[in-house]
Amino acid sequence: MIHDMNAIVGSHDIVLLTLDTLRFDVAQQELAAGRLPNLARFISQWEPRHTPGSFTYAAHHAMFAGFFPTPVSDPLAPRLMAVDFHGSRSISAQTKCFSKATIVEGLAEAGYHTVCIGGVGFFNQQTELGCTLPSLFQTRYWGEETGVTDPKSTQHQIEQAKAILGSRERDEVAFLFINISAIHQPNYFYADDAATNNPTRQDSLATHAAALRYVDSQLGSLFDYFATRRDTLFILTSDHGTCYGDDGFEGHRLAHEVVWTVPYADFVQEARQ
Ligand SMILES: [Zn+2]
Repeated sequence: MIHDMNAIVGSHDIVLLTLDTLRFDVAQQELAAGRLPNLARFISQWEPRHTPGSFTYAAHHAMFAGFFPTPVSDPLAPRLMAVDFHGSRSISAQTKCFSKATIVEGLAEAGYHTVCIGGVGFFNQQTELGCTLPSLFQTRYWGEETGVTDPKSTQHQIEQAKAILGSRERDEVAFLFINISAIHQPNYFYADDAATNNPTRQDSLATHAAALRYVDSQLGSLFDYFATRRDTLFILTSDHGTCYGDDGFEGHRLAHEVVWTVPYADFVQEARQ
């Protein structure tokens, strides 16, 4: 379903979650097997899309300019949001267009309080480069406990988001972006029996999937929180996948089908009356 973004912007909260590094095949497998109960409240399958970048920095720069992953079967499908750019196609009457360079700044101009919760290294604000993407937002947060090494990172990210939004006026709409760090390497510690069966502390497709199940276990509290606020558009996607030995490749920042194919979903959750 195409959302009418010109009706949504200004009246709805908007939540963008990038499930960093999540592979499409693993996401679909876990959802189909009934192991993502919180996401299953809203979606029955993921849409396969092609990411605009093979690693975090490139993909997020593109997304923040309105270039989200494109439908595999229809790359010129109308976009949700866009910024002024000559020759830009894939815009329809439902597309919300901004005159700023990014949708983040465009949403701020439209009255949103924009919040960035990191995340992997490109959101850690520890270097000039690590500040580039967060600095697009009015409020940004990163701590060790929301980074890739903390096994409870998603819980901490959601708690931080609630604390920030809870300190704002209730009638102010929010654009919340969370770069979910849990699925990115390292993820070996999410194996159910990591201590006994994973003594080499190796990341694998199995621990990648276990990390996604952990993320899903935390998302219920985020959905419930926004149900108390107002109608909310959720956009969930990955910025890129990653290789675990596929065709001899490891990691990402390379072109391989499991890197460029990412899961995507968007849906509106209505506020609880
Ligand atoms: Zn990434």
